Amino acid sequence: MPGMRGSVGPGTMFTRRHNRGYYLHPDRPLLFSRPPVPVVIHVQGSIFVAHATLIDGKARAAELSASITESAAELFETHGVRPGLAVVSVGDDPASKIYTRNKKRTAETCGFYSVQHALAADSSQETVLALLTELNADPAIHGILVQLPLPDHLDEQLITQSVAPEKDVDGFHFQNIGKLTAGQTEDAFVPCTPAGCMLMIEDQLGKDFSGLNAVIIGRSNIVGKPMASLLLKANATVTITHSRTSDLPGVCRNADILVAAVGRPNMVKGEWIKPGAIVIDVGINRIQVSEGGETKTKLTGDVDFDEVSKVAGAITPVPGGVGPMTIAMLMANTLASARRVANISELTGESSEDRERRKFSDDLAQT
Ligand code: NDP
Repeated sequence: MPGMRGSVGPGTMFTRRHNRGYYLHPDRPLLFSRPPVPVVIHVQGSIFVAHATLIDGKARAAELSASITESAAELFETHGVRPGLAVVSVGDDPASKIYTRNKKRTAETCGFYSVQHALAADSSQETVLALLTELNADPAIHGILVQLPLPDHLDEQLITQSVAPEKDVDGFHFQNIGKLTAGQTEDAFVPCTPAGCMLMIEDQLGKDFSGLNAVIIGRSNIVGKPMASLLLKANATVTITHSRTSDLPGVCRNADILVAAVGRPNMVKGEWIKPGAIVIDVGINRIQVSEGGETKTKLTGDVDFDEVSKVAGAITPVPGGVGPMTIAMLMANTLASARRVANISELTGESSEDRERRKFSDDLAQT
């Protein structure tokens, strides 16, 4: 089919985003009749003949970052506030180093003030807590991120709960978790990975998932549980599964939306998927592959992409799916925090003073 193939180097090479014609939606029966069309897609140097729309997280994140950059510049121009992000890491974990470097680089690209505190692996709890106290009080910092995992001698819970809730752009503070669980997302920080997943699902389905079944594999505090809260808020019927779930494939086969956040390479198979389902692969697994007699490390998700992309309606690749969106949502949260400090309503761009003034004149006009 002309116009339905594409190739742009390693990573994601084909996309049809904003595909509103999702054929499973129960409220739009006319759209049921359009089955997914087979397409050739290229992911990480491999070619797949798939039926699924490839959800290009990298392109979506770039689009989001461009709009964040624009809003950050406007915020600085109008209010003199530059969003500030502090990234704190402890130790030499190679994956954490890559993640923190990427976050700092993206923050700079968005025009943010960005600082990175890389503490030695043997840093004491007191040292980490003292740094957080300093950052909590620093008016130039609107978002603080502590890169996990922390070395074993540090109390992860105490440290994440020591970030001021109003600067907790990772959404790990109990105050933010509570607000999200209560469905009060307007002034809460939502954890970046589920927030990014949600945006990609909304791109496919719109904002209301009434009548749709969502299944999440994994019940972690940073992905599975907040993902469930977001899906529930969008009216999906939500099932959270985990390592003690019986008949996991059977449960997944009921999912119109399937989110895999497990940490087990290629666990989700094609026969687990309801035809046309949206599949979001959160997993990041490093596996060894042999290529031309050499053993190499390759990133792979929790979903067997080759099999699942033949059955699903839309699917995220790994890499190039959830990962870039997570970083973009971190920037979105940091911008939102800076806007709150500048007293600007996130939706209208109106400061609270202006809002009060407008309400007063509206009230006067009605008397
Ligand atoms: P956790 O290890 O905290 O949680 C894994 C979950 O998977 C647990 O709830 C566990 O169940 C469940 N699980 C494990 N084995 C099975 C099984 N055989 N069947 C069903 N469920 C199982 O992981 P995270 O949530 O932190 O991360 C999950 C994956 O997502 C990892 O690969 C991680 O690297 C990736 N990730 C990616 C991000 C991104 O930006 N793309 C961000 C965050 C994570 P139980 O609770 O019973 O043990």
